[in-house]
Amino acid sequence: MRASRPLAAPGLALATAAWCVLLSPTAVEARRPNVLIIITDDQGYADAGFQGSERIPTPHIDALARAGVRFGSGYVSHPFCSPSRAGLLTGRYPQRFGHENNPAYLPADESVGLPVSELTLADVLQEAGYVTGLVGKWHLGAAPPFYPRRRGFDEFFGFLGGGHDYFEAAPPGGRRSGGRRSGDPPEEYTVALERNGRPVELDAYLTDVLTDEATAFVRRHHQRPFLLLLSYNAPHTPYQAPPRYRDRFADIPDGDCRTYAAMIAAVDAGVGRVLAALREFDLDRRTLIFFLSDNGGQLRYRCADNAPLRGGKGTVFEGGIRVPFLATWPGRLPAGVTYQQPVTALDIFPTAAAAAGVDRSGRPALDGVDLLPYLTGDRESAPHASLYWRFGNGAGWAVRQGRWKLVKQRRRRALFDLQSDIGERRNLAARHPALVRELTAAYRSWSEEMVGPRWPNPGREKAAPSDEKAKAVYGRDSVARALYAFAGI
Ligand code: CA
Repeated sequence: MRASRPLAAPGLALATAAWCVLLSPTAVEARRPNVLIIITDDQGYADAGFQGSERIPTPHIDALARAGVRFGSGYVSHPFCSPSRAGLLTGRYPQRFGHENNPAYLPADESVGLPVSELTLADVLQEAGYVTGLVGKWHLGAAPPFYPRRRGFDEFFGFLGGGHDYFEAAPPGGRRSGGRRSGDPPEEYTVALERNGRPVELDAYLTDVLTDEATAFVRRHHQRPFLLLLSYNAPHTPYQAPPRYRDRFADIPDGDCRTYAAMIAAVDAGVGRVLAALREFDLDRRTLIFFLSDNGGQLRYRCADNAPLRGGKGTVFEGGIRVPFLATWPGRLPAGVTYQQPVTALDIFPTAAAAAGVDRSGRPALDGVDLLPYLTGDRESAPHASLYWRFGNGAGWAVRQGRWKLVKQRRRRALFDLQSDIGERRNLAARHPALVRELTAAYRSWSEEMVGPRWPNPGREKAAPSDEKAKAVYGRDSVARALYAFAGI
């Protein structure tokens, strides 16, 4: 399905691209922007300087926030990894196509992954003449039909599963030395990294390696419009970081929490290096950048901080779905402002497509909307009348309309006024029964448009190993126990 792409010289319209270009000839002379999406994994809502953290400084990400728009109500479409990423890449609620659970790591199972019927942002920009790259975590299926390079990415460096050890990987073409032992991390987490299908060695700290690859991508493709999805797996478990980052947090007494902070510091350093690469080629003003976490902070290990929000990863309270989220495009978007209307990661696809001048008329509607007119102030209304969440085929769900949010978590329904109660502490359901009925009906109507999960969530490991056992396996002071909790969510 790949159309041959013209070799793009800067400033030339890509007339042979299958997607029409909306821009006027004059506008086309101004080069179309690059699109850079930086995603972190399980980063706490408060765990960045621009979100108010005093514990974890993130000067480079903060600089991005100052140069653009911070989203005060920036959501993802799902409270855990894979469905959230499926929503981001398709611009559609992942429940529309049954992507409601995490896929198990099944390299031979062609039924578990982002359905091939879905078009990705990478497909669309690739077809429009962009060079497209994914660096880092995929987690949208491990069997061949789901490979990133079959889903619109020209280039892929990273791993296909839901996470990876930050120091260890199987050697190219082999397995980890010594065979597998009880208590070992899952194979998914130690497979060899790959570059475009070829296994490569992991010879440094994974977060730094992903940054190296991202900067190399920018250098390689600075003369063409590009889409780069830089998908860090930090600060997802296992909590692992080298001393040069951990030493910055000597004041954090708990070893795991010190490491968690160090992992975010490594991401921040990486963001700084990628931004420097953009500046090197004078691309910083010609790049639309999004930065966000794929879901809320994992609270189980008491290191992530989602304050002032309630709950965390795996819940549809705000702490599971409202994330650190910003967008920058110098000269096109305002700088240093917070946009308070609810937005969602589903909006990234249509926003990036519009910035690239792609005409989507006649194509199936997306659930996301183009945010550009809202962020520039051309439109003053809210981008979304309603936003919906559902996991476990309805085991938990939520709907937000304006200031109101109805949450169903376990058996209870609770109504919150987010304008006065961002922490979802005061359940107002008894006081507003008609509103509860109305929001319930809205949710049900939306949910009926969705389909059931196409596969079950992977089972959780029976029990996490003791710290001692984890240390015996790893031989490092970074406790690896958290690794084992990955499977369920
Ligand atoms: Ca995640």
